[in-house]
Amino acid sequence: MRRSRAFIPTSKEAPSDAALPSHVFLARAGFITQVAAGLYNYLPLAKRVIKKIENVINEEMTKVGAQEVELSFVTPADLWAESGRIEKFGKELLRFKDRKGNLFVLGPTHEEMMVDLVRNRVTSYKNLPLNLYQIKTKFRDEARPRFGLMRGREFIMKDGYSFHATTEDLDREFDAMEAAYKRILTRLGLDYRVVEADSGAIGGSGSKELMVLADSGEDTIAVCSKCEYGANIEAAKRKARKNIPEAPEANFNKFQTPDVKTIDELGEFFKVDPYYTVKCVAKRVIYEDESEIVLFFVRGCDNLQEVKALNATDALDIVDVTEEELREIGLEPGFIGPLDQDKAKHVIDVDLKNAQNLICGANEQDYHFVGVDLGIISDVAYFEDIAEVNEGDICPVCGEGELSFTKGIEVGHIFKLGTTYSAALKAEFLDENGKAQPFIMGTYGMGVSRLVAAVIEQHHDDNGCKWTKATAPYMVNIMISNIKDEAQVELGEKLYRELQELGVEVMLDDRKERFGFKMKDAELIGFPYTVIIGKELANGAVQIYDRASTVKTTVAADDILNAIMEKVK
Ligand code: ATP
Ligand code: MG
Repeated sequence: MRRSRAFIPTSKEAPSDAALPSHVFLARAGFITQVAAGLYNYLPLAKRVIKKIENVINEEMTKVGAQEVELSFVTPADLWAESGRIEKFGKELLRFKDRKGNLFVLGPTHEEMMVDLVRNRVTSYKNLPLNLYQIKTKFRDEARPRFGLMRGREFIMKDGYSFHATTEDLDREFDAMEAAYKRILTRLGLDYRVVEADSGAIGGSGSKELMVLADSGEDTIAVCSKCEYGANIEAAKRKARKNIPEAPEANFNKFQTPDVKTIDELGEFFKVDPYYTVKCVAKRVIYEDESEIVLFFVRGCDNLQEVKALNATDALDIVDVTEEELREIGLEPGFIGPLDQDKAKHVIDVDLKNAQNLICGANEQDYHFVGVDLGIISDVAYFEDIAEVNEGDICPVCGEGELSFTKGIEVGHIFKLGTTYSAALKAEFLDENGKAQPFIMGTYGMGVSRLVAAVIEQHHDDNGCKWTKATAPYMVNIMISNIKDEAQVELGEKLYRELQELGVEVMLDDRKERFGFKMKDAELIGFPYTVIIGKELANGAVQIYDRASTVKTTVAADDILNAIMEKVK
């Protein structure tokens, strides 16, 4: 491609709402333009990157026997009602009616559609397993679209679905897909980690996320210092604490504690470790057709993990409550204790089951109880894992390493669905005994457009993008410094032809612009290599600028083709 002909509208200005490097650079370097919140146009450079990512995905999917299909983007709302997800997905679903008044939904993911495709078409265990995928635009009316391609409303996803006759076969496929996803990310040149993820209401162990490690990642992941364990903080577990602080022994008693409201104040007042205090987090829990205030209790040294809380209550959503709302049901904000269960449902962290020597609110202004033994309510309250792990907690797998936090960008999610959707949509096959069974399913998502952003989050500097070899829109940029210099033009054109013949994706910067301007542009776009043909050509020398290392090396002009081919390999 000749730069003089290319549609690459670069700019010095970053979008006003751009907080992340990938958003800034993809916009400034002319890869994307914004249409509206969470909606972007992909310009030629972005299309090239997307195609590369898609090709790698397609190759790896073919290797594991998955077949590509393409399902309608517009999906009948009836299917969403059948699975019950029309409520669960809520406002993220963009609904609309056609001219006949039929209700449709723009597909945010395609489980229902894929099950509908397979039901009544695959009817025997003999035709299983089956793995179908597509790479397709999705639409989710995200509450807070942000960070450019990272969290769009319209975005590209590779979504795959597998169908099995047995759980063993699903397990085998899940492992094969994990391996394929790892190969994809390795080939794209990304540093990533596979972590255990929240499995939502479905539960079980078969939910993993692929996280590209980057400081700007929206997800916090807990990783073990000794073993391979890694988990999204939403799902991270820990081993029971080893160094338990000395217990404050006291008989059950009520104490006046004027103005002591926070856990820190409470610990300070009684001179006890927050481990022995009970923290109450009150939330309004929203179900399908009703809502209620639920009190979540964790140790004072812990925090409530909201996704765990959501799963523990099987709710659609959890929102904050005001002090007024608490008073309305007779609870005293700041002094709520887990002993007053007739006023609101209690969900207590498992680590507090049968815990003793506790200090908690006395459900009365300016009073706390000491010497509380939760053993007395162990049969009546709900005990669930609702606490968030802390850095320094012990790994649940090896039991030795300590957990620490790092940030990741979720680029993939693989999930053992079981029969959730096939049962709801009555998609069945006949097993070996001729008995009808719902398909056992897996689902495998990968964020293609999010990957474009993730590459840049991991590979950039202050001057712009640094595409990895597998993702670069063009591998080589040939820079003719002075377009009026015949010798420079001649070498540039020759190298351009030769590289094209060798199948190298190459850009020829033949614009009548200043060298400094063109070089800044090349850095911003982030071609892995720029061949600089400048004044030194008079002495038979040119330079290769390596964008990743930012090192320039001088090469004999005669040898430039070999030298650049050596790098490109
Ligand atoms: P998130 O927690 O980031 O919202 P999710 O759990 O909703 O993601 P999935 O439903 O598992 O995501 O979708 C599969 C993949 O699609 C994700 O791993 C992610 O890479 C990508 N993805 C999801 N939502 C978006 C979005 N709004 N913009 C871009 N990519 C997205
Ligand atoms: Mg989401």
